[in-house]
Amino acid sequence: MANNEIVEWQFSGSDAAEEAAAASLGTYTSELFALCDPQGKSILPPRNSSPESSHTAEKAVVKAVICGYGNGYAPSIGLPVAKDAVAEYLNRDLDNKLTGDDVFMTVGCKQAIELIVDILAKPEANILIPRSGFPADYVRSLFKKLEVRRYEVIPEKEFEIDLDSVKEMADKNTFAIFIINPHNPNGNYYTEAHLEQLAKLTRELRVMVVSDEVYRWTVFGSNPFVPMGKFSSIVPVITHGSISKGWSVPGWRTGWLALHDLDGVFKSTKVLKAANEFLEINSKPPTVIQAAIPTILEKTPQEFFDRRQSFLKDKVDIAYAKLKEIPTLTCYMKPEACTFLWTELDPSHFVDIEDDQDFCNKLAKEENLVVLPGIAFGQKNWLRHSIDMETPELEDAFTRLKSFCERHN
Ligand SMILES: *Cc1c(COP(=O)(O)O)cnc(C)c1O
Repeated sequence: MANNEIVEWQFSGSDAAEEAAAASLGTYTSELFALCDPQGKSILPPRNSSPESSHTAEKAVVKAVICGYGNGYAPSIGLPVAKDAVAEYLNRDLDNKLTGDDVFMTVGCKQAIELIVDILAKPEANILIPRSGFPADYVRSLFKKLEVRRYEVIPEKEFEIDLDSVKEMADKNTFAIFIINPHNPNGNYYTEAHLEQLAKLTRELRVMVVSDEVYRWTVFGSNPFVPMGKFSSIVPVITHGSISKGWSVPGWRTGWLALHDLDGVFKSTKVLKAANEFLEINSKPPTVIQAAIPTILEKTPQEFFDRRQSFLKDKVDIAYAKLKEIPTLTCYMKPEACTFLWTELDPSHFVDIEDDQDFCNKLAKEENLVVLPGIAFGQKNWLRHSIDMETPELEDAFTRLKSFCERHN
């Protein structure tokens, strides 16, 4: 065909995902890494290193591959052995026991969030999510036109949920309150008493609780982790999780959601039916990983998690001490979970920093150091610093941060 012929093609790309994509964590992260100078000093955090995985998980997958356990399609709701194993695992902490039928396998925790938003999205409906919070639920809600309202947390009270703000924000069109426990980026997790208060309040408001528990294996505070499912005798609860963070294998893309029903509420309100239907039309996690899930959950030695937790606790101690030398950033709480420090930025302490995004852009350009702006998590003028690095890199990162802050002070 002659190249000078002009054809008016009949197709064009949809821009329906434009706004949502711009708000995603991946967009923020890749834009900041793109500002770093590949010829300059090492880029931090290192992008291609990941913590050691548990050999139990790797061996289980190899076995599934060699034996062909995962070569076929799995049912859309998940492989039965995987669903049963997740139910059994979660039941360790629960009085109201789950069965495999209450569990659905998803493409990571992210798809579990997408499914929940899809199930809840209706004209006029709204959900409550935390300020700050992990962006996936916000991003999916933007895409599905589900209204999002942000409730507050209290930095001075170890980032507890401000229950008054939840109460104020909810109305008759509120369907659910989303919590993140342990909380990325705040680095806290909730006490049993606080969760019980939340359960009572949400019952009063007649909404369900959706709890993101993907970081439940990464806690190093003194309290035990308490799953929200424990309160399903008060309020209907959906929990979701994955092996991504606990086993350091986010690329394996395997997670789940669990419906902790209260007297058949999820059945009568058609949530259960909707979950089945949405899974029917969506992609599934790789069968081979699902086939390995029973061994991964049951057989990974506690020692693996202990080692990871003490690694992170050590890094938090180092980073927190380093941060004390940077008086222009405020850290309200030494994290007890996850892999980040969360600090407040007051632009008035700086001569030429407009806000958190400007801070992060300049930091990436000048120091080859990527810190994420609070705005990515729904809270302007905060910063999320990764601490999941070996000690020399971590010290280097905070030394660069300090000299950057002093230079712009
Ligand atoms: C990483 C993360 C997710 C996504 O988990 P995947 O299993 O990788 O999809 C969801 N929620 C929170 C709070 C996270 O930190």
